[in-house]
Order: sequence, then C-alpha cells, then structure tokens
Amino acid sequence: MRTTICDFCLKTGLLCAKCRERLMKGELSEFYIEVAKKLTDLEKKIKALSTATLYDAINLDGKVILIVGKGDARKFIGIHGAIADKICKVLKCRRLLIIEKDSDLVRVLEQLISPNNIIRISQIWLPDGSVERKVVVSPVTEKRSKLSLDEIKEIVKKVTGEHIRIEVLKS
Ligand SMILES: [Zn+2]
Repeated sequence: MRTTICDFCLKTGLLCAKCRERLMKGELSEFYIEVAKKLTDLEKKIKALSTATLYDAINLDGKVILIVGKGDARKFIGIHGAIADKICKVLKCRRLLIIEKDSDLVRVLEQLISPNNIIRISQIWLPDGSVERKVVVSPVTEKRSKLSLDEIKEIVKKVTGEHIRIEVLKS
C-alpha cells in the first residue's frame, strides 16, 4: 500500500525529521500515521491493498473516513464489504467510509451523500470578493444519513481544499 509517509517511519514506528515536520505543519495527522501502520500490517493478509494508495484518514467521533486513490475504493471495500469489515475491526471504528480522492466537488459530494442527490450548486459572492459554492441536497433523515452536514463540509475541505456551504432542500 502506498502512503504519504516514508517507509522508514512506517516500519520503525519512529518519525524521521521530514515526516515530523509534516506532522507539525498539520499536513499529516497522528491518526493517519496510526491507520497507515495498521493497514500496512493488514496488507500482508489482504493482497488487494498492496496496489492501493491511502492519502488521508479522518476520525469523526468513531466514524472513520479513508481518502484513497482513484479507482482504489473497491480494494478497501472488497466483495460484500468483507475487506471494509476487517479494516473496521482493526481500526475499531463504528463506521467506515471510503472516499476516492478527487478534485471535482461534484464527484466528492456524490460519494459522501449517497444515496441522496445534489439538487443544485450555486455560487455566492462574499463581501470581500471571494466566491463560495453553496450546495443544496435532497432531504435526508438523520437516521439514513451517514454523515451530518458539518461533517460533510469538513471532509470536502480536506479532500478538495474548498470551503462550501451545504443545505438540505426544504419541502
Ligand atoms: Zn519519515
């Protein structure tokens, strides 16, 4: 499995100067390092992971979101979710979401809000001249939705770097 930390750090459990600096800058999180190590171990048993890339890992109160390479989601999910179940066990998470890294807002959102839909995306010009995009999604009941709107906003920011506003369509 490809990760964003170096082999030395993955294998020794120590942090080299370069990786430590990235941790300080916030480009890398403690949680990501932990997940990268655990999944590299798991890779010995699950061969599908050996050709996959892990870009980031986010922990939102027991819900874990793995940001993976394009086309890699199925490698982390497996047949009928068998691999995802194993990963969940190893990471001890309540819920696991696999999102493929993508710079396209629509494709990232579709992965996050499925099975709900994007109704429209509009632009808002702010007083300081910057532009923000506002997304309106189809109504979701709290039970059905895997993530809250705030969590979706946070993940979008991490994956695409874009700060969005998100609303549910009022009926
Ligand atoms: Zn390192």
